[in-house]
Amino acid sequence: MTYTAPRGTRDILPEETPLWQFVEQKAREVFQLYNFHEIRTPIFEHTELFQRGIGADTDIIAKEMYTFQDRKGRSLTLRPEGTAAVVRAYLESNRHKQEPLSKLWYQGAMFRYERPQAGRYRQFYQIGCEVFGRGGAYQDAEVIATAQQLFAAAGLQNLEVQVNSVGCPVCRPRLKEKIQSFLGANLAQLCGDCRTRFGSNPLRVLDCKNPRCNEFLVGLPDLTDALCADCRTHFQSVHDYLDALQLKFQVNPRLVRGLDYYTKTVFEVLSGQLGAQNAVCGGGRYDNLVEELGGPALPAVGFAFGLERAVMLLQGQGAAVPGTLPYIFLLPLGAQADAQAVLLTAQLRRAGVPTEIDLADRGLAAKLKTASKLQARYVYIIGDNELHEKCGQLKDMRSGGQEKIGLAELAEIVAAKHREKN
Ligand code: AMP
Repeated sequence: MTYTAPRGTRDILPEETPLWQFVEQKAREVFQLYNFHEIRTPIFEHTELFQRGIGADTDIIAKEMYTFQDRKGRSLTLRPEGTAAVVRAYLESNRHKQEPLSKLWYQGAMFRYERPQAGRYRQFYQIGCEVFGRGGAYQDAEVIATAQQLFAAAGLQNLEVQVNSVGCPVCRPRLKEKIQSFLGANLAQLCGDCRTRFGSNPLRVLDCKNPRCNEFLVGLPDLTDALCADCRTHFQSVHDYLDALQLKFQVNPRLVRGLDYYTKTVFEVLSGQLGAQNAVCGGGRYDNLVEELGGPALPAVGFAFGLERAVMLLQGQGAAVPGTLPYIFLLPLGAQADAQAVLLTAQLRRAGVPTEIDLADRGLAAKLKTASKLQARYVYIIGDNELHEKCGQLKDMRSGGQEKIGLAELAEIVAAKHREKN
């Protein structure tokens, strides 16, 4: 009997982890530049938090949550996204009473029962951020700039930033009416999902991936005309600030997001390289969610990006980050040499040198083969002959050159070589 990873999950193997760590590191650095602080929330939350926060009409709530009961019959859900939990933690820790402005970032696994395909998984990883306490358009532009700088720092190329406004509770009904009256005559021709959404959440029809539904959207009038004066001014200011920050962007009047909590600005970062799953990053403003989740009326804005997709893009560009290899491989030959080698591994590692050891009872040729396979930069051979001289042979695996080095000096000499290399 062998086992495979559950459908929609995958292992991130050591060949890939250096690239993941690289993106994570760039994110950490850029968040620091923008004064964000890391927050870590639990992997599961009370189901109600997501039901309230994300909106009952969304795909996530309707069909994608991993929900289970614990032993006391409480309904818990593996987090499908980060924002609701960060808002919960922000309120629970009373930061809203202490900080006039909170900028938080997070990273971790998210879970959605979606149909798996390239770039879409049931367990996937997001890095995201949330800003609480600033309602002005500048903050929207700054959050978009954060995402943009982060992707630039990671070396991601050919990305496009698209922005739109989905209005607020004042003008949203007008936006919905506009879509409903435009599509009404063709309602029967739309896909099942769109027919359901038509009544409750017609904005989501704009986001339908079905090409037939898209055909019926051709000629849809510009919805920004239906925005209220406040939302229109806000959207214009976002453009102005994006220009001031020298950020390139496109207005996509059809851009809406899969989560219900957005107000005013929404944005996505897209790549032509990803096929159907072309969004790397999505976000926007959500001025009503904090209040909806039991807090004060407090404006907020944020984004999240998918690590799988960011890493896929980097791989597509041919980016590779080498993993750490053993710098020195100790090859003792015999019981007495083994004891010395064990001592040396400790010294070398304490001196900061990535070290491996082969204590197997076998000959030098076999040990050299292993060291070479594992791409050790140097090997140190300790045989019985050398042992009574208290030294061993340091072999450079690239040049093949060999020199005699005392056991007592080895750690210092190799640590110096390793420092020089780095
Ligand atoms: P969302 O939370 O749906 O706004 O998604 C934000 C970003 O997370 C997307 O742009 C993707 O990069 C990523 N993402 C969302 N869902 C998945 C998934 N099922 N598998 C992999 N990445 C995902």
